[in-house]
Amino acid sequence: MPKTPEEIIRDEIRARTAYHVPDAGGMVKLDAMENPYRLPPELCSAIAARVASAALNRYPDPGARELKARLRAAMQIPPGMELVLGNGSDELIQMLALAVAKPGATVLGVEPSFVMFRMLATCAGMGYAGVTLNQDFTLDLARLRAAIEQYQPALIFIAYPNNPTGNLFDASAVERVIEAAPGIVVVDEAYHAFAGASFMPRLGEFPNLLVMRTASKLGLAGLRLGLLAGPSAWLQHVDKVRLPYNVNVLTQLVAAEVLQHMDVLEAQATVIRTERARLLTELRRLRGVEAYVSDANFIMFRVAKADQAFSGLKQRGVLIKNLNGTHPLLADCLRVTVGTPGENAQFLRALAASLDS
Ligand code: PMP
Repeated sequence: MPKTPEEIIRDEIRARTAYHVPDAGGMVKLDAMENPYRLPPELCSAIAARVASAALNRYPDPGARELKARLRAAMQIPPGMELVLGNGSDELIQMLALAVAKPGATVLGVEPSFVMFRMLATCAGMGYAGVTLNQDFTLDLARLRAAIEQYQPALIFIAYPNNPTGNLFDASAVERVIEAAPGIVVVDEAYHAFAGASFMPRLGEFPNLLVMRTASKLGLAGLRLGLLAGPSAWLQHVDKVRLPYNVNVLTQLVAAEVLQHMDVLEAQATVIRTERARLLTELRRLRGVEAYVSDANFIMFRVAKADQAFSGLKQRGVLIKNLNGTHPLLADCLRVTVGTPGENAQFLRALAASLDS
């Protein structure tokens, strides 16, 4: 008799629930921080021409040389720094965890933050320590220092701006964490396009600092492309964990083409930032809504009854993210992605109606 899954599958995996992606069919989709804008037709034609001539019979360039050169220019990677690419930045988080997963090693993150830090640390067989943020979602340096002392984490993740709270942490507090850390600190700049602050220019200033970005929030979520930049002393090892062809031919070609038109993506990000300001003002006008300032392409807000507001929105065809129950600091909080002006208006109408009912 073969053994049962209970006997074979690791305890920490069986204890997990699968990462749930809700079905958004037919809904106004404001749950996943996607850019609501498509690419202009000329750029789509250029992409189509590249794809038509792609050698799909061949494996991709394992070094992704053209794409890396485009990324270096588009993201202003400091000279002398290495790059590792991932199938989304999720995969980079996984590679980092796999590379440092010695028995007993710990990943440290702040809470609430991006859930994949904990999930992928657990999947790699590592311990995870979550350090609660202050009530106003700023870094609690005293608690962070104590946790760093206690756990000696091999890897620390700081999302900058943070998801789901939307704020940028104080840069000098992040520096204190980098200085106190015995291991790697990854500053995850997934929302950089909407933030106007970055640790990218500071790579090399701290030997243990790595900066992660993604093309997803910029408007290329469907391509699945993330990048990790930093000193080769670390990245040469992370790269050994990478599967040789993790960034496929089409992603390499299409991203290399689009990155030559960063102005298009940046113009979209500017529109999203303007809409974010308008959406914040409108949210704050609604009675019983406390909306938080955001440096990202989403806004977190608190209502009296989040579960009721969330299902009311869903009934009215608008999907956002319900954060209630995910962390004590997020009681009755919801998170909405900044969409097009039309989508945002539809969301605001549906929210007002859901709060009234
Ligand atoms: N980091 C943060 C902070 C995020 O919020 C997300 C996506 N929600 C990611 C990384 C992962 O993005 P992707 O895998 O699409 O690059």
